[in-house]
Amino acid sequence: MLAGGAWLVWAQFGLPWIRLVDHRVVKAPLMTLNWKEFSAELEMHRDSEGNQWTRFVRFSAECPICSGKIELLPGKPEHRLPLVGRCAESPHAHVYSFDRTQLTGYYIGPKLQMKS
Ligand SMILES: [Zn+2]
Repeated sequence: MLAGGAWLVWAQFGLPWIRLVDHRVVKAPLMTLNWKEFSAELEMHRDSEGNQWTRFVRFSAECPICSGKIELLPGKPEHRLPLVGRCAESPHAHVYSFDRTQLTGYYIGPKLQMKS
């Protein structure tokens, strides 16, 4: 019980901040979000004067394949990237990389079949 509680505190308050330094962008811990928010990201951002900011952001895009909504989600288990863009309509087929600084990404899902 105690160990489980300690793990929960660590997973919600400790780990995301350590990952943030490494990955620059992580999923925001659920406890830091408003109850109406389901998903958001924490981003370490450096402005033009070189000041570091940590901010809440929400990245989303329209899926170019099916025009569903793409959100950032963990890349595991099938991708090496910590965060990937996953389409709400097809989260395991329509998968995209994400470049935080350029706000771009490319398709990294399973090989596309050409319709004949
Ligand atoms: Zn899609």
